[in-house]
Amino acid sequence: MPKRFSPAEYIDGVLAGNRVMLSRAITLVESTLPTDQELARQVLDAVLPQAGRSVRVGITGVPGVGKSTFIEALGLHLVREQGQRLAVLAVDPSSQRSGGSILGDKTRMNELAAHPQAFIRPSPAGRSLGGVTRSTREALVLCEAAGHTVIFVETVGVGQSETAVHGMVDFFLLLMLAGAGDELQGIKKGIMEMADAVTITKADAGNEQAARRARAEYQNALHLFPLAASQWSPVVTTSSALTGAGVAEVWQLIEQYVQHTKASGYFQRRRQEQHLHWLEETIRETLEARFYARPAVANRLPELRQQVMHGTKSAFGAAEELLGL
Ligand code: GDP
Repeated sequence: MPKRFSPAEYIDGVLAGNRVMLSRAITLVESTLPTDQELARQVLDAVLPQAGRSVRVGITGVPGVGKSTFIEALGLHLVREQGQRLAVLAVDPSSQRSGGSILGDKTRMNELAAHPQAFIRPSPAGRSLGGVTRSTREALVLCEAAGHTVIFVETVGVGQSETAVHGMVDFFLLLMLAGAGDELQGIKKGIMEMADAVTITKADAGNEQAARRARAEYQNALHLFPLAASQWSPVVTTSSALTGAGVAEVWQLIEQYVQHTKASGYFQRRRQEQHLHWLEETIRETLEARFYARPAVANRLPELRQQVMHGTKSAFGAAEELLGL
C-alpha cells in the first residue's frame, strides 16, 4: 500500500508544481478506497480555483496511425519553442498492462517524458470506461493546478472512449492515415463529426502526394457535416512527425480555435456545460455504486436476476422491490 500524505502535503505539492506530488495526487484520485476518495476530494476542492487555465486537447486515431510519435513531436515543439508546460494523459479502458499504455512501452515519447516541462501519465490499468473517465477528468484538474498550460488527452483505440474524451476537452484532434479509401469506414462517422481538426500523418518519404489527396477527400467529407455549435469549420492538414512538417501548424490551428471560441463566448459556455455534465454523471455513478453496495440489495439481487431472466418476475417489479429495500 502506498504511503499517504496529509491533505496539505498533497495540496501544496501540487500547487508548487512538484511532479512527484502531482503523480501521487493522481494515484489518489485513481484509488477506489473510500479513505483515499475522501482525501482526493479535499485535495481537488482545494486546488480547483487554480485549475481551468489550460488548453485541453483530445487526440485520437487508430493504433499505428502515429499518435505517440506525433504527440512527442508536437509536445517537444510546445515545451521547447512555445514555453508551454504540457501534460499528457491517456484514456485506455482496455489496458490491462500494469503501468498503462504510455509508460508501459518505454520507447514511446521518451524524449518528451524526460523534459522538465512535460508530464506524462498512462491510463489507470484495469478499470471500466466510467472509472477511467472520472479519474482522467480529475487528473486533468490536478495537472492544471500544478501549472500545466496544455493538456493532451490521448485515446487509444477508436470507440466509446472518444466520446468520453470529447466531453472533457476544448479541442478534438483526429489523426488519420492516407492511402486507403476505407479509412472513412474504419473511423466511425461520429468520431469524424467530433473532430475540430484532422491531420493526415506520415506525410513523408514519398507518401506526401497520397497524404495531400487524403486531405482533400477528408476536407470534402467534413464539409458535408453541419457546422458545429462552435461555429468552427474543421480543418484537415497533413503532417510528418519524422520530418516535423506540419506539426507546428497543428498548434497554430488549436490557438486559432481557442481565440475564435473565446471571442464568441463558446469556449467558456462549453466548459460550463461540461462541468455540469460531470456533476450529473458523478451523482449518477455515486448513487448507483451506493445502491449496489447495500447488503440488502446485494443479498436479494441474485434471486431477482434469476426470476427476471426466466420471466417469473418483471424487470420493473424487481427494480421497484430493490429500490424499496
Ligand atoms: P500509435 O499506435 O498511433 O501511437 O502509433 P506510433 O506513434 O507508435 O507509430 C506507429 C508506427 O508509425 C511506428 O513504426 C512509427 O515509427 C511510425 N510513424 C509514426 N509517425 C511517423 C511519421 O511521421 N512518418 C513515418 N514515416 N512513420 C511514422
